[in-house]
Amino acid sequence: MYAHRPTEVEIDLAALRHNYLLLRQALPPQVALLAVVKADAYGHGAVAVARCLQQAGADLFGVAIVEEALELRQAGIDRPILLLGGAWPGQEDCLVQHQLQTAVFEMAQLERLQAAAARRGRRCACHLKLDSGMGRLGVQPAELPAFLEEWHRFPALDLVGVMTHLAMADLPAHPHNSAQLRHFAEAVALVRQAGFSPRYLHAANSAASLAQPAGLCTLVRPGIALYGGQPFEDQPLAGLQPVMHFHSRIAHLRELPPGHSVSYGQLFVARRPTRIAAVPVGYADGFNRRLSAGGAVLIRGQRAPIAGRICMDWTLIDVTDLADVQVNDRVTLLGCDGDQCIRAEEWAERIGTIAYEVFCQVSKRVPRHYL
Ligand code: PLP
Repeated sequence: MYAHRPTEVEIDLAALRHNYLLLRQALPPQVALLAVVKADAYGHGAVAVARCLQQAGADLFGVAIVEEALELRQAGIDRPILLLGGAWPGQEDCLVQHQLQTAVFEMAQLERLQAAAARRGRRCACHLKLDSGMGRLGVQPAELPAFLEEWHRFPALDLVGVMTHLAMADLPAHPHNSAQLRHFAEAVALVRQAGFSPRYLHAANSAASLAQPAGLCTLVRPGIALYGGQPFEDQPLAGLQPVMHFHSRIAHLRELPPGHSVSYGQLFVARRPTRIAAVPVGYADGFNRRLSAGGAVLIRGQRAPIAGRICMDWTLIDVTDLADVQVNDRVTLLGCDGDQCIRAEEWAERIGTIAYEVFCQVSKRVPRHYL
């Protein structure tokens, strides 16, 4: 056994559970909740997150690729798992074998799934995906009647869900939302007229499930809000707790005289006697290099500015104004220390992205510990 570099992510499962219950309580009781755990649960660790949420009562899980679904099955997650974007050709047998549900929107997918299900003498649960205005994946509304007509050729495929995805859900008042939901309602009516009775009707990500609880839907698909990320672009939602806390520790302290520069490119030059802390975390860990300009960390419950460029494995912090700083002090990059917090949205705004990407970019090199 050897000592590890003190750079780690703590995942607060109590906060995850709290956020789940906050979402759950905003929904009518008959509406099911599919927890989106794709991309390793937005970087939080899919197995631990799914175990926690399965215990909390999540009804289904959503993933992007088959490998993510298999990881959950192998870890003993037995709730239904939906492949949100469908399977790749050649994955159908695996889908049927592991009883994975899948989004479908092309006839060739139905043909291949039918063949795989027939080979194994099983059925396959499918969610018909409608492109109601996202322009990404899904049957176009005009093609839907023909698609439904053809479905009757595939007796092993159960149409258990109808789904769509909203492009403007983070701005709830945007008219594109109502236009998309109108197309969705028309599609559901057509599906029913064609003789199907899908159990799951779903369109809502975190933002939509909070802004428009229920309506026609019998299932919601939150992701970001479970992880404490803000779902709305224009109004903060109180009550969500951050789940990911990204920490390191001060490895070395040095005093630099005025005029001494710090890090690549000499962007930081000491104007006064300056105390610099070297912290073993860098952009290879997901501490985005663009945070170099104006970014800060928390040490002893106080903000301290990043000095100069973030390197691949090291970051330098100007701790001149902090009292009593010592080697081995905890450094919080994301998350809370005392009553101070650095949220993913703060990083996102600084580096020109969204909280989703901030979470996903915390690299595999950083071990996750679960509280
Ligand atoms: N549903 C689908 C199809 C998605 O692609 C996503 C995420 O990108 C979600 C639901 C969850 O969205 P959010 O994380 O905004 O709640």
